[in-house]
Amino acid sequence: MAKIYFIDVTNRDGVQTAKLGLSKLEKTLINIYLNEMGVFQSEFGFPTTRHESLYLQANLELAQMGVLQPIRLGGWIRATARDVETAFNLAPDIRHLNLSISTSAQMISSKFRGRKQEDDIVKMMIEAVEAAKSHGAETIGANAEDASRTDLSFLIKFGLAAREHGADRLRYCDTLGYDNPFTIYKTVKKLAESVGMPIELHCHNDLGMAVANSIAGAKGAIDGGQDAYINTTINGIGERAGNADLLAVVLAVAKSKNLAGEYQLERPIDLSQAWKIANFASYAFGVPIPVNQPGVGANAFAHASGIHADGVLKDPSNYELYGFSELGRGEPELVETGREICTGQYSGISGFRHVINEIMGEAAVSFASADEAQEILELVRYANVEAQKPLTGDELVFIVKYPEIAKKLLTLRPLDY
Ligand SMILES: [Zn+2]
Repeated sequence: MAKIYFIDVTNRDGVQTAKLGLSKLEKTLINIYLNEMGVFQSEFGFPTTRHESLYLQANLELAQMGVLQPIRLGGWIRATARDVETAFNLAPDIRHLNLSISTSAQMISSKFRGRKQEDDIVKMMIEAVEAAKSHGAETIGANAEDASRTDLSFLIKFGLAAREHGADRLRYCDTLGYDNPFTIYKTVKKLAESVGMPIELHCHNDLGMAVANSIAGAKGAIDGGQDAYINTTINGIGERAGNADLLAVVLAVAKSKNLAGEYQLERPIDLSQAWKIANFASYAFGVPIPVNQPGVGANAFAHASGIHADGVLKDPSNYELYGFSELGRGEPELVETGREICTGQYSGISGFRHVINEIMGEAAVSFASADEAQEILELVRYANVEAQKPLTGDELVFIVKYPEIAKKLLTLRPLDY
C-alpha cells in the first residue's frame, strides 16, 4: 500500500510569513528537531537567496557529518532554468529541490500579464527540471502553485510533462486555502491516477481547513495508488492564516476515526518530541501557542467542569483522545524566579562559563584553553546579536559542539558576491 511522508516547510513557508522570521541558528535547530522527530524532509530554505547560502551549506555539512540524518534537506526555488543555475552556484551540494510555478489561469494571466500561456508554463517547468537533473539533483518536486484553482486537465498535462522529464513528485498547492476535504480528495485522487506519481499536499488555512484538507488529499493520493507527501509547519505558522500544523496532521493520521492504523507512515513519527519542537518554534518566532492548540496548547489537557473532571479522573479515556505524556509534556519546567545569569551580545567569560555549566551539568565541557572558551563566547555573542533574545540551552550546546558550523551560520556577508 502507498505511504504517507511528511515534508515540513517551516523553514521555507514559515519564515516567509509577514512580520515573522528565524535566525539561521534557529532554522538549524528546527532541522535537528524535525530529524529527531522522524520527519522525512525539511524544506530548509531558499537556495537562490544570498543570505541563505552559508546556512544551507552549513546544514548540508551537518548532513554529511551524520548530524542531520536521515532527514532530507530540500530547497525551494522558482521553476526556471536560471534559478536552478543560481541555486547550484550558491549551494553546490544541494540534492533535493522543489521547483515552483503558477498554474492557474488567474495567476498565469495576471502575474505574467499575457506574456505566458499554459504551454509556456509547461515548457518552463521542463527546462527547470532538466537543468536540475543535469546539475545532479536526486529528487525533484514540481510545484503547481494555485493548483486548487487550476483547470484539472491542464494540471494533469503539467504533471505528466514534469514526470516525463524526471520530476519525482507533483506538489498540489492549495495556495489560497480554497479547497475543502471533499474537493481535494476528488481532485487529488484523479490527479494521482492520471499522472502516476506521488502527490504532495500543500494546504493553507484561510478557511480553517488546512489539516482536514491535508488528510483528505493524502487519502485521495493513496486511493489513487500513489504515495502522499504532506506539507506541514510547526504550530501551523505560515503565510496569512498559516499552513497545516505538523502535530495536528500527525495526530489526525494516527488517532482519528477510521484513519488510525489505516495508513502506513514512511517512518514512525516520535510524538514525544512534539512538546519540545512546538515550544521552541513558538519561542523562536515569538508567537505564543494558542491555549486551544491541539496537543500542545495550555488547555489541551485541562478539565474544569464537574462532569468532565469527574470523568477524566475516573478514566482519562472518557475525555481525552490521547495522553499528554505521549506528546512529551508533563515534565515540570524550572523557571528561575531569583537571580539569573543570561548570555547576551555583551556577555563576559565568567557569566558564560556559569551558564554553560548550568545547562550541561555533568557533561559540561572543559575548554582546552582560555582562547577556546573566548572563541565560543564570541560565537555566542554573535548568535545573540542575530536572535535578539536569550539563546536556548540547545542553541548554546550546539555552538559548543559545532563551533565551525556555528561560525558559518552566523556569517553574513552583504554584497560580497
Ligand atoms: Zn504555501
